[in-house]
Amino acid sequence: MASVDFEHIDKIYPGGTQAVFDFNLTVADGEALALVGPSGCGKSTLLRLLAGLETATHGTLRIGGQAVNDQPPQRRNVAMVFQDYALYPHMSVRRNLEFPLKMRDLPRAEIERQVRWAAELLGLGELLDRLPRQLSGGQRQRVAMGRALVRQPTVFLMDEPLSNLDARLRVQIRAELSDLLERLSATTIYVTHDQAEAMTLGDRVAVLDHGHLQQVAPPQELYERPANTFVAGFIGNPPMNLFPARLVADAGGLRLRAGDQSAPLASSATATECWGDYLEQPLTAGLRPEHLSLTTEAEAGWRAVVHDAEYLGHETLLYLRLAGLADPNPILVARLPGIRPFHKGDAVKLRLDCERLHLFGPDGERK
Ligand code: ADP
Repeated sequence: MASVDFEHIDKIYPGGTQAVFDFNLTVADGEALALVGPSGCGKSTLLRLLAGLETATHGTLRIGGQAVNDQPPQRRNVAMVFQDYALYPHMSVRRNLEFPLKMRDLPRAEIERQVRWAAELLGLGELLDRLPRQLSGGQRQRVAMGRALVRQPTVFLMDEPLSNLDARLRVQIRAELSDLLERLSATTIYVTHDQAEAMTLGDRVAVLDHGHLQQVAPPQELYERPANTFVAGFIGNPPMNLFPARLVADAGGLRLRAGDQSAPLASSATATECWGDYLEQPLTAGLRPEHLSLTTEAEAGWRAVVHDAEYLGHETLLYLRLAGLADPNPILVARLPGIRPFHKGDAVKLRLDCERLHLFGPDGERK
């Protein structure tokens, strides 16, 4: 396999749409990188640039250290798996798997060996004589993977390969794929708009918005230290709560204030050291839904009003607004264990776990 480098890549389509802006990223040999972002953010463009289906307007693309900007797709030895699988409908599974090998004029015995290997790896042994239309969505997806595998490419490129599967199958195939990528140690770039898929499949996750790279980090770091409000509001389900707030000083240290309510920041000495420069400035506070809970302590709690409740069995997602907050007064979500009965308009008291507070400046960047 091989490493991949994107160096200062810009892509401007004819007509003037700029899909990618000064994109820089190195994917290590054997790494699975998930590229995630909302629809239209430039994910497919980046994959297509690497596959050679589009040309970069500026910048250098490298595979295994070699610049490939001028190489035609077939010389790049990358294999792409698409969301619609792109199987040949009139060919059996076996012939679909053989096809890329026949194109290379490999000896018959070698073709058979490769097909056997891929079929075994993907559990396709029983299906080799079927046509694509005789397969389930998940099986078709595996054949598409197999066809990419037999080529023994230097890099796998996957463009939303699970998006045509129903929700349950998606989760199952996602687990199989994660296992496969780990066993193959194959350099993979995996494009998805689904943050959960990115977080489960990527060794690292790159978050893209409007053609700009926002952050690249292992899943846990992305969740625990989002670089800006975009990443904070994109990663996690439900994503991080963000609301306007200020830091104020009092005798005991710092307090977080939103509207007419405030709470002391725990470990205030550290907080003062990190955030002391941002006193009285307009900031955005971030707290994950699991870091909001209900309290009966009249003094300590923040007043909030229930907007809606979603009962999920093992937990309740409680949607609420803080009391006394001028617009914008966003809806916040608290993740509460078990089932709790609530009604729209109920007044509740919230406890904020300020140990887990994130703060972002007016530019959206993490403080
Ligand atoms: P994503 O894969 O994240 O949904 P794309 O890479 O497909 O995003 O598209 C990024 C931007 O580039 C979008 O604004 C899209 O409309 C535009 N775009 C994509 N392909 C073309 C094209 N062939 N010609 C012009 N604009 C394009």
